[in-house]
Amino acid sequence: MIENKKILIQGMARSGVSVARLLAKYNNDITITDLNEQDNNLIEELNNLKIKVVITKNQDELLDESFDLLVKNPAIRKDNKTVLKAKELGIPVINEIEVSYKFLPKDVKIITITGSNGKTTTTTMVYELLKRTNKCVHLGGNIGIPFSSFVEKVKSNDIVVLEISDHQLCDMYEFKSDISVITNLSKVHLDFHNGYEEYKQVKKKIFNNHDKDSIAILNSSDNDVLTLTSDIPSKKIYFSSTKVADAYLNNNKIIYNNEEVIDCDDIKLKGKHNYENIMVAIIISKMFNVKNQDIKEFLKEFGGVEHRLEYVKTINGIKFYNDSKATNNKSTIIALDSFVEPTILIMGGLDRNIPFDELATHLKNVKKVVCYGETKNKIADFCQKNNVDVIVLDNLREATHKAYENAVSGDVILLSPACASWDQYKCFEDRGEEFKKEINLLN
Ligand code: ADP
Repeated sequence: MIENKKILIQGMARSGVSVARLLAKYNNDITITDLNEQDNNLIEELNNLKIKVVITKNQDELLDESFDLLVKNPAIRKDNKTVLKAKELGIPVINEIEVSYKFLPKDVKIITITGSNGKTTTTTMVYELLKRTNKCVHLGGNIGIPFSSFVEKVKSNDIVVLEISDHQLCDMYEFKSDISVITNLSKVHLDFHNGYEEYKQVKKKIFNNHDKDSIAILNSSDNDVLTLTSDIPSKKIYFSSTKVADAYLNNNKIIYNNEEVIDCDDIKLKGKHNYENIMVAIIISKMFNVKNQDIKEFLKEFGGVEHRLEYVKTINGIKFYNDSKATNNKSTIIALDSFVEPTILIMGGLDRNIPFDELATHLKNVKKVVCYGETKNKIADFCQKNNVDVIVLDNLREATHKAYENAVSGDVILLSPACASWDQYKCFEDRGEEFKKEINLLN
């Protein structure tokens, strides 16, 4: 619990506002700040809770030694001026998840899921399957539902399932989960972390405060995961789509603890990567005694989370897929490997200075690339180097229409951008929504 403290909250995104509302109930003296103008209704609501709202580019000037705590948005870098000043003044810097944890009752089972890819899909499946137990299950974290927005509703013996990003892990210290998952590791967000080594060490914090009774669920096909976790004290349970493990694939069936749980033909989600996510969900479900029959029924119906290789519709024999969540090469490779049809790939977005070369060996079904956004010229160069037809445009609307003009019956049009959306959109969800809107205008 945090009460009677003077607190600066940096960042007025969903989690910042939510944690402000929580902390305001406990007689804390709160200032919340953002660089950008905010909605007047929101400001009024916060003011009514006695929260001061300050919109300023000089947030560091708000902070002095009278503050007890800085709660920062996960996307704010550790070399941000305000964060540096807090550290200089000896003011603890934590994030919304760490704050919320301090409000949690005893005897709650916490399950956390992190990794470079597959977090949201895995977290969603774990949550959906655990709902089939007689326990009360709560879902949140990086998945878009702030922990602080529901922590007060959690009771002893409930289960909390949290998706946790590397950005969130940076500022977590006392937080301890009972069951932690790393789905996989790859070179993403390196600009934020000064390189892959640091990124991996941050990911390792998912096992913070683990002891021998804690459980780590790990991908044994991923050597980086194995090396990183070699010295954690937790009980380890392994899954793999390429070799024998506690949960693994054998003859197109998922085996766990030597028992066949499900045939992959009976699973709606496709792709080895999804089978890995499913193995995690099965391992956790079994710990909470979810019946095989319930697991089977769920996996037969579950078609994935929106914006992740989401089938949109077929127009004149041309199938459209929205994979707006593919914000890095790895995800786009997975998408490309999922199709055997001739594919028109729409890609582009924020330029993080990451080359596209690793896509080169996955282009065999790509008949054309339509690119747009900050990275469009780099993508065009990459395509020319690899002898792939490319069309360069300014935005996704034009790209969608152009892709359709160039497609014939039997083709797939795939939006799998390999880039973040922030050059032109607030978030990948907005990008995916616009793509679907444009598709619905076609005929
Ligand atoms: P995250 O939340 O980690 O970004 P998602 O579940 O939202 O992951 O999936 C995003 C994309 O990552 C998917 O569209 C797919 O291309 C890829 N992906 C999903 N699961 C895995 C996995 N287990 N291994 C590798 N890539 C995956």
